[in-house]
Amino acid sequence: MSIATQCKFFGHIITVEKALAVRKAAPANNRSSLAFECIKCGKAVRPHVAGDRCKAHFVHLHRNPECQYIDPPRDF
Ligand SMILES: [Zn+2]
Repeated sequence: MSIATQCKFFGHIITVEKALAVRKAAPANNRSSLAFECIKCGKAVRPHVAGDRCKAHFVHLHRNPECQYIDPPRDF
């Protein structure tokens, strides 16, 4: 089990740092529609900035217990 630090974005594998930069560059009203996909299960994910307990990573928009990537507990 591990946390996701890469995702698929328009067919390309990108890092969470890149995804955060993409999201930052997007207009505010467009951010929720950015199509980041889990590279394991293909479900929608969103980038999460580093917190006290873990580095930057992706979380599933809807938790997916079947996926090899786990969603760490939220820091907030
Ligand atoms: Zn997944």
